[in-house]
Amino acid sequence: MTQHHDFDSASLAHELFDALAAATGDGIGITRECYAEGENTALEIFTNAAKAAGLEIEADQLANLVVRLPDDDGLSPALYIGSHADSVPRGGNFDGAAGIVAGLICLIRILRSGRSLSVPVRVIMLRGEESAFYGRANIGSRGLFGLIGEDDLLARSRGTGKMLQEAMADLGIDVAGVLARQVFFSPERALGYLELHIEQGPVMVAHDFPAAVVSGIRGNLRHRRVVCRGEAGHSGAIPRWLRHDPVFAFADLVSRLDDHWQTLLERGTDLVVTCGIVGTDPADHAISRIPGVLAFSFEVRSQSQDTLDDFYVVFQDECQKVAELRRVSFEFDPVVLAEPARMAPEMIEALESAARNLDIPFEVLPSGAGHDAAVFANAGIPSGMVFVRNRNGSHNPHEAMEIDDFLKGVDILHAAATAGN
Ligand SMILES: [Zn+2]
Repeated sequence: MTQHHDFDSASLAHELFDALAAATGDGIGITRECYAEGENTALEIFTNAAKAAGLEIEADQLANLVVRLPDDDGLSPALYIGSHADSVPRGGNFDGAAGIVAGLICLIRILRSGRSLSVPVRVIMLRGEESAFYGRANIGSRGLFGLIGEDDLLARSRGTGKMLQEAMADLGIDVAGVLARQVFFSPERALGYLELHIEQGPVMVAHDFPAAVVSGIRGNLRHRRVVCRGEAGHSGAIPRWLRHDPVFAFADLVSRLDDHWQTLLERGTDLVVTCGIVGTDPADHAISRIPGVLAFSFEVRSQSQDTLDDFYVVFQDECQKVAELRRVSFEFDPVVLAEPARMAPEMIEALESAARNLDIPFEVLPSGAGHDAAVFANAGIPSGMVFVRNRNGSHNPHEAMEIDDFLKGVDILHAAATAGN
């Protein structure tokens, strides 16, 4: 399957993934905090590999790194191949990194082939894709299009404890420009955006496909923190009818949301709902105390913006009903929205025909997880994604991608990026 190239893609892939695991392992999994040491270390490993191969590299205004061929002056519109260098805490080695390594291999193949392209191909190594540290996903790509706001800049990292604006300033990022929602990347500069990524769900393993072409990407709507406020009291002394119990109120709310969710699923709606963080305050909670306050995160994901909007109305409505019924109140922090995206038909077609020509079996799948490709697509840039089979899910230390599968994905990416170019 692997084509004849005068360098060994598999060796470079092994070498880079091993170096990343060694340098950013945390003892349990992989931690590459964005705008911090882990992400910087990963980018340094990629930079060294790119330079050693004879590629040119420079940072953009968001401190993402752009890699180009020596004969590309970086000025004319290009086809970008991208993915992210960061990871969740205690995550896996391939989420994001696979896409960057794939892009670098594509560029090196083009360089070694000696061909000159009519449309330059560049690799963009993005920062801050994961929302784990600041509660906002796709910071590096959204920032390029003026889509990072003050709430995001003031969010504090659960790792370093720094505010995003501080962490960005430390890397020389133009925070004032980001705050002013300056557009640093004019969409006309990109004729397309392609991204290879490991699949983060179980579908490809179940269906036994090494590669997939992505049809669309789910968006999400979130609150980092909703506070349900009741009244603290003695668990033995206060009867049910006099309680203002935020835990029972929250349980009631979740049960109501679950009913709506199930009804919508029965109607064929694409929707997932999660409260990933739930807690009473450990400083004063106790077995014998009715808690005064409960805080939770809220997230809905769908491929449809209408579904996100509609379900948010349902959520607000149920919060109001539960507040009245249970004599509690709800306080909401600002909504964080990541818009759903469709992949461009011409990019889907280019990736499909590349896979067919290479005789690589593939399927077409929607992406449940968010990706930077959604940000580029929503900026009006025709975008496409290749998924590579991966065992054990993602955002955990047990991600397992076979290098053979990875190279099939790289072959598809390379063929699509260079077809008729
Ligand atoms: Zn990812």
